[in-house]
Amino acid sequence: MSLLVVGSVALDSVETPFGKVKDALGGSAVYISVAASYFTAPVKVVGVVGGDFPKGHIEFLKERNVDLDGLQIVQGGKTFRWSGKYHYDLNSRDTLLTQLNVFEKFDPVIPEAFQKSTYVCLGNIDPVLQRKVLAQIKKPRLVVGDTMNYWIETKPSELRETLKVLDVLVVNESEARLLTKEPNLIKASKRIIKMGPRVVILKKGEHGALLVTEETIFSAPAYPLENLYDPTGAGDSFAGGFVGWLAKTDDISPENLKRAVIYGSAMASFCVEQFSVDGLRDLSNLKIRDRYHSFVEISRFDER
Ligand code: AMP
Repeated sequence: MSLLVVGSVALDSVETPFGKVKDALGGSAVYISVAASYFTAPVKVVGVVGGDFPKGHIEFLKERNVDLDGLQIVQGGKTFRWSGKYHYDLNSRDTLLTQLNVFEKFDPVIPEAFQKSTYVCLGNIDPVLQRKVLAQIKKPRLVVGDTMNYWIETKPSELRETLKVLDVLVVNESEARLLTKEPNLIKASKRIIKMGPRVVILKKGEHGALLVTEETIFSAPAYPLENLYDPTGAGDSFAGGFVGWLAKTDDISPENLKRAVIYGSAMASFCVEQFSVDGLRDLSNLKIRDRYHSFVEISRFDER
């Protein structure tokens, strides 16, 4: 099934206790589409970059079978730049710089060929733009959306409107608490369900992810990694693996949503093993499947 991804395409400068990169390929649409490209192809991307965006990055995305017909290139403009520094335990980070550049005037136009996409993943962008994207899509089967503290704080009523048109919301713990003013994550998820999405996925970093619906709760572990270098994009890679699997199988049953959460967790685990998107560059179906199975192994126990 066809998958459309909308979000930021960025040049990231990141420092962790284990190294740093400058102007590396990043952005929510990039992590989501690259992760999803291992499940379904071509993944269609809508985003914006400046004339300074390196050609090598475009070539890499094309090699991953990402359809860039919806990528606006603003000649003379500068690409969105983000910079962050992680603390010793990698659980928290400081944003050092957010330069919107061409992203500031981004007006997502969905090419006609993309308008019939059945699966849509809205990366973290202005909730007004998220709705504008959806208004151009004809009857999507499933809409997955992400947001962040910035939008929860600055555009709360716009975000409320967007939540009404999402099927799945993917957020981290602090975002869920901020959105609902509810410290308990299960209660917070149920409140979010009342706002619109019928599925809430709570990303809990090294503690895995929770899938919450009105009827069920599913807890997925995080893959126990020994070598974790750069958490940037882990949440987006999760979303890409999750929606990529659903688009591949075209099955949104409760059991398949659980499998999708594990594929999302697997893609996030590959992402954090290297800087930028490097951990997602050279994967194989076999490697992804192996990691998927190891999630089963680390959670299986004899109930007697
Ligand atoms: P994550 O680690 O999942 O929060 O995603 C990090 C990615 O989000 C980086 O590659 C950044 O380029 C991108 N990003 C950071 N801030 C913003 C923002 N305000 N809007 C859109 N994308 C952003």
